Amino acid sequence: MNLPTKYEPKQVEEKWRKYWEEKKIFVANADSDKPKYSIVLPPPNVTGILTIGHVLNHAIQDVLIRFKKMQGYEVLLLPGTDHAGIATQNVVERKLREEGKTRFDLGREAFVKEVWKWEKEYHDRIVTQMKKLGLACDWTRERFTLDPAYARAVKHTFVKLYEKKYIYKGEYIINYCPRCKTVISNEEVEYEEENSSLWYINYPLKDGGYITVATTRPETMLGDTAIAVNPHDKRYKNYIGKVAILPIMNREIPIIADKQVDKDFGTGAVKITPAHDYNDFQIGIKHKLDRIIVIDKNGKINKNGGKYEGLDRFEARKEIVRDLTSLNLLEKIEPHIHSVGHCSRCHTTIEPYISTQWFVKMADLAAKAKKVVKEGKIKFFLPRWEKVYYHWLDNIVDWVISRQLWWGHRIPVFYCKDCGEIIVSEEDVKKCPKCGSTNIVQEEDVLDTWFSSWLWPFATMGWPDQTEDLKKFFPTDTLVTAWDIIFLWVARMIMSSLEFMDDVPFTDVYITGLVRDEKRRRFSKSLGNSPDPMNLIEKYGADGLRIGLLLITPEGKDVIYSEKSIETGRNFLNKLWNASRFILSNREEQKPGIEDIALKRIDRWIISRITNTIIEVDNALNNFRINEAVKII
Ligand SMILES: [Zn+2]
Ligand SMILES: [Zn+2]
Repeated sequence: MNLPTKYEPKQVEEKWRKYWEEKKIFVANADSDKPKYSIVLPPPNVTGILTIGHVLNHAIQDVLIRFKKMQGYEVLLLPGTDHAGIATQNVVERKLREEGKTRFDLGREAFVKEVWKWEKEYHDRIVTQMKKLGLACDWTRERFTLDPAYARAVKHTFVKLYEKKYIYKGEYIINYCPRCKTVISNEEVEYEEENSSLWYINYPLKDGGYITVATTRPETMLGDTAIAVNPHDKRYKNYIGKVAILPIMNREIPIIADKQVDKDFGTGAVKITPAHDYNDFQIGIKHKLDRIIVIDKNGKINKNGGKYEGLDRFEARKEIVRDLTSLNLLEKIEPHIHSVGHCSRCHTTIEPYISTQWFVKMADLAAKAKKVVKEGKIKFFLPRWEKVYYHWLDNIVDWVISRQLWWGHRIPVFYCKDCGEIIVSEEDVKKCPKCGSTNIVQEEDVLDTWFSSWLWPFATMGWPDQTEDLKKFFPTDTLVTAWDIIFLWVARMIMSSLEFMDDVPFTDVYITGLVRDEKRRRFSKSLGNSPDPMNLIEKYGADGLRIGLLLITPEGKDVIYSEKSIETGRNFLNKLWNASRFILSNREEQKPGIEDIALKRIDRWIISRITNTIIEVDNALNNFRINEAVKII
């Protein structure tokens, strides 16, 4: 046997990757009689690149899959990518902007075509990176959250939930750009610190005296429907429940208590305008306050604004401040720096606006999702994450699932323009079933990306058809993910699975920590502190990177990354390599097998050591103590 004296990961890894693929080593067999062990790999964003966080997440799953395979299970590690609505759309819009174009110049159809073009390129990039990591994935089963079969699953889900009256249309406060005249998603709003002012306004009380509120937007006072204070603020104890008179408009409004109010902001008393502020909107829901819209879609005061009707919002601000001064109700003006949202496309100040959106009713789904964890049908590692999970479910609000984007699953709702009929259908509708008109338009909005990825554990296996894969590999066994998406993803997968599969989607949830740098900062593009896994693989090999990372990954806690540990990983593999070389060069004539060998004491010692190690490693891996298992080895 002629082995190089030093471990050369590139040759070794390349060779085995090819071998696995040719021999279909990790292609799962749904007809197998063996017990199964399955994992669906959390799909990375298709436009993303592999981060050190992905490496950690993927390496853990790979360890579990290979471990179970060695134990004789029929294993499935199902890979795929996520279409990542807003992230992907933004990437392509940025490219267009470089050519001086917007998506509106192209129109919906051409724009979506353009995104598909990019999608192909990005997809190949991320998948190549995942393959370089040497994952034991079944690539023949690879899925994309926007592929046609997956789209069918998403439509089916929408229709079923709509029929069950879990999906409804309601009012919600969104970001609106009065210049682009379009709804802007949260991710498209750019926040900037601005030098502004804080206006202190006296609101007279109905039975004498007054209360002073501080605001950054005096013009919205025209739509005030309450004043709020913090229930623990002693200064205002006697004010709660009283009635104030809204200056200028002379409308009576209640003084309410809400924990969301920051005691330290201004005077600790704030005006509440549910139709024009995000926080006020939420407070308005809790206290059932009216929503009075006073600014229209052009950024001008509407008829609800009395004598200011027709004025631009910033003009109105000046007028109102002037009027308050002459009424002697303006206590003072303080300079104030605060962060203001701007349209990422035209830099106009964003106006929060009430609009109609699609929602999913969450209460019933949440109750069931809570129950299965309480009953131990799904276990979290570490168990402390269960508290986080319950906390969210206990405070759940309905899920806004519509997005004002073009890239994604278009909502399967059709409107008849002649008779107003609303048709919710998995098939495209061309003719109105009520009046026969062909004047039909489909809903413009697309679904939140999570509305497709919450089906991941079963839609990837062919649902809504009853497939062999579902029979064999569903429910899956382990989900490995980071804590920051317990709500967005983990909880929702549990809900959808209970609703549509009548079963849990997985039995164990292994929550990894986040990977941080040596100063404990999160890795981010803007800090420029992210190590590139591809460079690390080039330098240390994929196995070196993986084992190095697992060595410094304490169970369920954040990982403090240093390149030194990856070097340690590589050195460990070198040791294995040298040990193998030593054995092969000394015992070439000997066939493996110990039955016919007379054991010396030292042989027995080493066999007992290895047996112990196997038991300990099994034990650690069965309990998700992956770091411990690596250390034992
Ligand atoms: Zn704009
Ligand atoms: Zn009709």
